[in-house]
Amino acid sequence: MTFDERYDGYLAQIETALAGYFGEGRRGFGFDGLLRAMDYSLMAGGKRIRPVLVLEFCRVCGGDTRAALPVACAAEMLHTYSLIHDDLPCMDNDDLRRGKPTNHKVFGECTAVLAGDALQAEAFGTILRSGLPPLRRARCAEALADAAGKGGDLYAAVSSARDKNLRLQEELRGELRRVGLPEDWLDAQYLCDKCLDTGYDGDRLCECLLARYREEQRKSLSALCRLGSSTFDEFDLDYYDSEPDPRTGVSPRESMDVVYEYCVRYAEKFGGRHTKNLFMRGGTGLGKTFLAACIARTVSERGFSVVYDTAAGLFSLMEREKFGRADDEEEARGDVERLFACDLLIADDLGTELTTAFTVSALYDIINTRLADGRWTIFTSNLSDEELRARYTPQILSRLEGEYHVLPFYGRDIRLLRRDRE
Ligand SMILES: [Zn+2]
Repeated sequence: MTFDERYDGYLAQIETALAGYFGEGRRGFGFDGLLRAMDYSLMAGGKRIRPVLVLEFCRVCGGDTRAALPVACAAEMLHTYSLIHDDLPCMDNDDLRRGKPTNHKVFGECTAVLAGDALQAEAFGTILRSGLPPLRRARCAEALADAAGKGGDLYAAVSSARDKNLRLQEELRGELRRVGLPEDWLDAQYLCDKCLDTGYDGDRLCECLLARYREEQRKSLSALCRLGSSTFDEFDLDYYDSEPDPRTGVSPRESMDVVYEYCVRYAEKFGGRHTKNLFMRGGTGLGKTFLAACIARTVSERGFSVVYDTAAGLFSLMEREKFGRADDEEEARGDVERLFACDLLIADDLGTELTTAFTVSALYDIINTRLADGRWTIFTSNLSDEELRARYTPQILSRLEGEYHVLPFYGRDIRLLRRDRE
């Protein structure tokens, strides 16, 4: 018989014997949870090298391998105990062992500690309860204890390691003092005491990280539009005519008051059940860009992800992602992903782009994908109905009309008025 054949024979005996210790047949005593945890790790597979070696050495020495089986199983229990404890959060903190969740991941840390402890005790119990002659049981238990704990050597090893560690710490403090640094200079100093700089407060994003996100977003908003810092308070209704429009009887100022209030409420309630997609329309210089930027800022400050760009800028981003150079592509891909995935996309000045088959299909893609994903979008545009029809496909127009709330802007070009006043 070859060793491989004997190995298979040993393995079959060992697996059967191990399954009998804490498996189903032993349950029902009120500590099933612990037995289940012990059984889980003991039966989690593995090569069983230790118990096989016990049996093979027994054979080589002329012993009866069947009588040695409990000792072989004891070696495996002790090994399993060491694995369970090694994986614990206070040790290696491993989530997986042989492709399966570690003991504490399945049963919790307390049970895992106890299961390890119990397996260690059971290892010696199994030897002591075996049918071997008393002196041989004692020798086996002693051999296992020596191999596992290294007896007196362990204490010496721990003491010397501790002394060395303390010495090194003292040396380090001395060095720090020497260069004029505080002794705790190398200790972790956390910027955020709440999450210890992990960014997570429990399973939620910590306030410190949210603030960081908002700050980064504000910076990128400012980079994209000079109006990243625009606030609703700066909006001045005085620039709009209070003379009623002869056709409607309503003055631009009154209309814009309504539009302004709508935008403020929109930004404050963004994300709620009543949030709509917006299409801000009207001539140049009526404050569309300004109010869109105010919405961007407020919504962003409330913690939502916002992408703000001119329509032309968005299309050229998508073009770069599709046709760009390789070194450019990576970054563009990230930006394009962001524009599809952000909570609010604001595309300013639709219609100022050079209209091509690509931009039209890109626009349709943006509108359609974001509608399908339930994400909100705001477009602003100076184009008249005729100009819109001339540039875009009926599919695009029907979605802009059907799925977007149109916000009309009235009055005369504020930029010209402001110049006249100055
Ligand atoms: Zn924090």
